[in-house]
Parts: sequence; C-alpha cells; structure tokens
Amino acid sequence: MGTKIEKKEFIYEGKAKRLYKTSDENKIIIEFKDDLTAFNAEKKGSFEGKGLVNLQITNLIFSYLKLKGIPSHWIEQISDTEAVVEKVEIIPLEVVIRNRAAGSIVKRLGFEEGHVFSEPVFEVFYKDDALGDPLLTREHVRMLKLCSDEDYEVLRAKALEISKHLTDLFKEIDISLVDFKIEFGKNSQGEIVLSDEITPDSCRLWDIETLEKLDKDRFRKDLGKVKESYELILLKLREQLN
Ligand code: UDP
Repeated sequence: MGTKIEKKEFIYEGKAKRLYKTSDENKIIIEFKDDLTAFNAEKKGSFEGKGLVNLQITNLIFSYLKLKGIPSHWIEQISDTEAVVEKVEIIPLEVVIRNRAAGSIVKRLGFEEGHVFSEPVFEVFYKDDALGDPLLTREHVRMLKLCSDEDYEVLRAKALEISKHLTDLFKEIDISLVDFKIEFGKNSQGEIVLSDEITPDSCRLWDIETLEKLDKDRFRKDLGKVKESYELILLKLREQLN
C-alpha cells in the first residue's frame, strides 16, 4: 500500500478538466468538469454528472486497454470527479483514427457521412486553439518540431493498435466506433504513453443497427438526449467489462 496522495496546487484549467499537483511530483490529479464545448469552445454547455460519467468511461476504457498491453497515464479514480494520473509532457498532437466518414473528413474530402473506409485512416492535428487545430502532414510535424520521426511512427503504431482494441470492444456492445481522438505524452522515463481521456466527447459512437449518434455530436448538432446517450455508453461498457 502506498501513502495516500494529497491534492496540491492548481495547475491548469482546460475546457473539460482541471489539473492539480500532488504530494508526488510524478503524479497529478485530473478533475473532470460537467462542461461541454464544441467548435473550438464557441459553443458551450454542460449537464450535471457529465464529469462523473466521462471519468468512469475513461477509467473503464484505460483499464481495458491496460489489460490488452497498452499502458496509459491512468493510475486510478479517487473520487466522483477525480483521478490520479502519471505526470507526462503532452505531445501537442491530436491523433485521430477513422473507421467511417464523419465530421471534418466529410467537409474536407467530400465522403458521404457513414462511408466505411477500407482501412483505418490515421490523421494528426496540431493541438493549437489559436490556429483552430489544423490538419498536419508528416512534413509539417517535422518542420514544427512537434515530435521526432521515431516518435511519430510510435504514435501511428500505437494509435492503430488502440483502434483495433476499441473497435472490437464497442462492436461487442453493438456500437460502431466511427472515429476517435487520442493524445499521447512522455513520462519521466521518456516513454510515450496514451494520455488525456477516451469518452463520448472524444469519440464518435453510433448504434451499430440504427446508426443513431450517441456522442458529442448530439450536443454539437442540438439533437437532444446528450446525458442519456453518455449514460447509455457507460452502462453498456460497465455491463461488458465488469
Ligand atoms: N475530436 C476531439 N477534439 C477535437 C477535435 C476532434 O476529441 O478538438 C474528436 C471528435 O469528437 C471526433 C474525432 O476527433 O471523434 C474526429 O473529429 P473531426 O476531425 O471530424 O472534427 P470535428 O468534426 O469534431 O470538428
């Protein structure tokens, strides 16, 4: 048994989370907020219990991935809104994997929404709100010195492996994993680890039969039943994984 971790100074507030230092310099506490934002925070909302739902979903998914041999920064949930995670230096890239067309790839390349790709599509975006998170080529990543060539290949391989496991997991609960965004960080040993969160805020999840949207698009597009959809995802994951 380790000594109990103490919450220390506030570090940073993002759109959906707050970060705090702890009594252990290699660990931080993440607090999940009830806020929802979209379109680079131009649209704002919230629902009561959202932080708790997303925290529990992330906890289940990161624990599942760990069993599959994919480590992440996740250590443990410590309250209804907080988790302890390993402190990492976030690589400023949003790594996206797409199984079907939706969102920005529909606008950018003209695919019909729902088009099934013959293989997962890997994309990276620059994590920079001021620039509107632009899509990056491999050369852009190099020019901007966002990560080394070697790290880029690690990110791609890890993202595709994560995609395989998540796609299987969601299929088992009759959900189509349309696309998702993940982030990676480097820990104190210089290892690249999956970080941030995996939730209906960061994934597109459709009912496998009806193709009903069960993710943040319900908020983005004012489709209603946002809370109910997030709770349904949690319930299904819980039934499958517990
Ligand atoms: N995504 C995210 N954060 C962002 C942008 C996108 O979590 O800042 C997720 C989004 O929910 C979707 C996937 O990444 O599951 C691909 O998003 P896309 O590029 O289609 O952008 P969007 O349509 O959300 O602008």
